[in-house]
This record gives sequence, structure tokens and C-alpha cells, in this order.
Amino acid sequence: MAYITINRKHFENNIDVVKRHLESIEPSREIEIAAVLKDNAYGHGLEIMAELASSYGIKTAFVKNYDEALRIKDKFDCITFFYDDMREKFSHIYPSIHHLSDIDRFEKSLGNLSDLGVELKVNVGMNRNGITPSDLESVIEKIMKNNMRLIGVFAHNGYGDGEDAEFYAEIERFEDIKGRVVKLSNTLGFPMPRFHTLNSSSTFRVKTCSDSLVRIGIALYGYLACDIQSASNLKPVLKLYANKVSSRILKKGDRVGYDGVSQMNDEVIVSTYDIGYGDGLCRLNGDRKLFLPNGNEIIAKNSMDCFSSYGELDEICVIDDANYVAGIFDTIPHEVLVRLSPFIKRIVV
Ligand SMILES: *Cc1c(COP(=O)(O)O)cnc(C)c1O
Repeated sequence: MAYITINRKHFENNIDVVKRHLESIEPSREIEIAAVLKDNAYGHGLEIMAELASSYGIKTAFVKNYDEALRIKDKFDCITFFYDDMREKFSHIYPSIHHLSDIDRFEKSLGNLSDLGVELKVNVGMNRNGITPSDLESVIEKIMKNNMRLIGVFAHNGYGDGEDAEFYAEIERFEDIKGRVVKLSNTLGFPMPRFHTLNSSSTFRVKTCSDSLVRIGIALYGYLACDIQSASNLKPVLKLYANKVSSRILKKGDRVGYDGVSQMNDEVIVSTYDIGYGDGLCRLNGDRKLFLPNGNEIIAKNSMDCFSSYGELDEICVIDDANYVAGIFDTIPHEVLVRLSPFIKRIVV
């Protein structure tokens, strides 16, 4: 049976790499590292990664939806979900507000919103989601009117992966937002919320940081979608292994797989392994070549549940470097990892 290994040492190393970077840019102040565990912890397995993160001292997690938050609710002090409604109040689970009307929706499902902790998302230039900065005062007033707790104010810098000057413009806009929140906190008398705007690449890109915490996703799993020197010691956490289903000897001219796009040049032994595009390995149609870590080629076209390769090893590593696979399919490591089926067994090593 195919399986995934999760390397605990590499995961802890990656937290340490982020920690060392933060200590180097802000030596006098501790910035909290929060784990982004959305989308089944980027395909690594939500509960497993939540356990590893919390046992290594991470106190705050971010996930996509309420159900993910519930599944890890005993592991963290604070859990924020980005895009969903709340169905039952928990004092340490917070929905995100992207629009004034979200508050009315929460009220419909929860009734009285008193004491509900929320995080307020502000659009600082990516123009994807979050409230418009000019609405800041009115949204916060509505939060206070409903006696909700404003736990955090955050933005998402969408320019961390490149050299675009917009990266710094977005940081400036968030600084302005913070200043206005501080003022409101003084005039309206609510406790200062936490502030956060940096994901993995943005965190490694900045030379100073005045936020309370950083939201680290892909770097915890050992990757970035760009090259930054301070992140060069990140180590991939996940490896995907497949097991042999069967082997056969093929003659010169024999063809393999759907539509027979791959034809044998010689007599060869070909084996089939139990990972296919249904498990998250992208489909090859014959236009591009994908090699396994041991140098063997995955023979196109691979199927939904299996692929063929040369040789007859009983077990074979399919992915040990999501960056390599991402490069072949013109995507980023996030997408390669997040596609991995939750049904594949995960083993912590
Ligand atoms: C996914 C996500 C992150 C983490 O991004 P990485 O690039 O994986 O570190 C942070 N913040 C928000 C809002 C996200 O959606």
C-alpha cells in the first residue's frame, strides 16, 4: 500500500529556521510563529501536523474552515479559520470577517454574538478579500456594538514571492491600518488586537517586522515558491512512496498504458505501482517527462490509481521534492502537496 512519511526532525528544523530569521531581524522582541494548517495541512495530514506543531510549542493555528478548526480544537490556544461560518461558539476558535455583512450572517447562525472572538481581514492591495480600508472604523464599531472580542486585525501580502515594489506598499498600508486600530482601541476602549500580515515568503523577505505574529504555511513543510537565502535550510517534510502491483517483461515495440503512447525500444521489465492521479500525482499525457527520485521514468500515460515504471523494485519513492514536480507541471509546491489524497496512510518518522 502506498504511504506518506512525515519527517518530524525536518518539520522542527523548519520552525527553527523561521525562528532564527525572526530573531535576526527583531532581536529584542519575540514574534509568534503561527502554523497554517489549512487544506489538510498542505496535504500532509491535519491531525498529524497539528500534533507535531503543538508538541513543538506552536500555540496558534490557521485553517480554511470551521470543520478543520474543530478537528484540532484541543491542540492550540487560538485557532482562526479564514473562510467559513461558525456553527457553535468556542472561546478559542475565531472566524474571519471579510465584510460588514459577515457579522449579520454570524448572528443568524449563532444568535447573540456577545464574547465571540473574531479576526478582521483588511484588503491592503491584493484585492482578493478583506474589508476595504475605508470601512475599518465602521466595521470595528459594529464589532464593539455586538460585544464581540476583536482578537486580531490582519492582511495578506500577495507579493512576497517576487521583487515587486507593491510588496513594500502593502506593508506601508498595513502600518497605516495598525495606527488607526491603535487609535480606535484608545477611543473605544477595547484591548489591543494582534496584528499579522506576513506568510512564509513575506516573512523571509522582510528586514524588520512590527507585527505580533507571522502566518507560516509552506515553509513549515520545507518549501518556498522563490529563492531567499535566509530560507535555504528548509527541509522537505513529506515523502510519498508507492508499492508494486505487478511486473511484466515487454518486448521491443510493445506499448504500455492508455492509448499506448509509450512504446518500448527494447526488451524491458516494467512494473506498476499503486499511486495514480486519483491519489494526487498529476497526469502525464506523454508531452512531458517526470522522473522518480531514483532516476526511473514514470511512463505516460499514468492512470487514476497507478503508474508504470521500468524495473521491478517492490517499493519506490515517488515524490521527495515537491519543487521538482512543481517545475515539471508549471506550478508551485503548494499545489503538488495539497493534491495528495487524505486516504493515503501517513507515518511520522
Ligand atoms: C495560505 C495562507 C497563508 C500561508 O501562506 P504560505 O505562503 O503557505 O506561508 C497565510 N495567510 C493566508 C491568509 C493564507 O491564505
